[in-house]
Amino acid sequence: TTSRPLILVTGKLIPHVLKRLAKEFEIREIARPDADLLTPDDREHVRGVAASFLGASAPFIDALPKLEIIASFGVGYDAVDAAHAVQRDVVVTNTPDVLTDEVADTAIALLLNTVRGFGQAERFLRAGQWPQGPFPLSKGTLRGRRIGIFGMGRIGLAIARRLEGFGVAIAYHNRRPVEGVSYTYHATLKDLAEACDTLIDVAPATPETTRAVNADILQALGADGVFINVGRGATVDEPALIEALQARTILAAGLDVFANEPHVPQALIDADNATLLPHVASASQHTREAMADLLVDNLESWFSRGEALTPVPETAAISRKA
Ligand code: NDP
Repeated sequence: TTSRPLILVTGKLIPHVLKRLAKEFEIREIARPDADLLTPDDREHVRGVAASFLGASAPFIDALPKLEIIASFGVGYDAVDAAHAVQRDVVVTNTPDVLTDEVADTAIALLLNTVRGFGQAERFLRAGQWPQGPFPLSKGTLRGRRIGIFGMGRIGLAIARRLEGFGVAIAYHNRRPVEGVSYTYHATLKDLAEACDTLIDVAPATPETTRAVNADILQALGADGVFINVGRGATVDEPALIEALQARTILAAGLDVFANEPHVPQALIDADNATLLPHVASASQHTREAMADLLVDNLESWFSRGEALTPVPETAAISRKA
């Protein structure tokens, strides 16, 4: 078994990953991506990392001299230092496509729940308040809404396709317009926010998108404004969002992601116009197993054929030395 590549599993991954990895690889598990948790001997021999949402920092990558590949769980890989990995000739893979439909479904559910206040309505029923009178009419409705999608990529497009069935107007902002789609393109996020009353954020966390959704953008949505985030918390100025919700500058927000997960500011928990989910957009057994399969398939393909299946763009040119 010593000839089997040593794969390091960092953080908690679903059992399906470990079950499959154990068939072909030697495995070590550590609670977080910290090389101090490994024996010096293991550190010298790790050739692959199966990374949880905790990612991989530059010092962690540098502590593993034989590292060839980081297979990251999830499509967003902002927690992995891909720029540093490419310098070290380490390929990084993610799990695109297999989670697209699940995340788009979640975005639609979060949108409807946020606009109509169904979470609040359920809490009202469970608290035994119904016999005292009906739940108040919702101020919001999806009828007549103009929806803007920030990040018209794989998931953004799946959200837009679903929204077509709801008869709402759809526009978007990316750095570049997407060929072959008829939704209205806006060259800046501000232009999109001014043209819409509902902003769905499904953009990746990058230096460029950091806190892109700020007070100015939220204000532009207007008093009937709704902000939905299934992308990353880092793309939002969270204190500005809290202020907009408290001052009712916007109507409501629906959030699956936060700036400092799993810690959610008390002000958001207290906001009756916020609908909050604990980062569950892709979190069905079905989809998490498909993500796990793609993660392991990437490692198998790399160590058997020298090719990763879904390398991230930054590291796509790296191939395995014979
Ligand atoms: P894609 O790469 O297919 O789409 C990303 C889109 O964002 C592209 O259309 C891109 O267009 C646009 N974009 C990137 N940078 C910028 C920028 N600076 N300004 C404006 N637009 C930008 O990714 P996916 O659709 O597969 O996933 C999107 C993100 O969703 C992931 O990165 C992840 O963070 C998040 N996610 C969250 C989940 C959850 O559990 N809540 C689950 C899955 C994903 P262009 O290049 O033209 O700018």
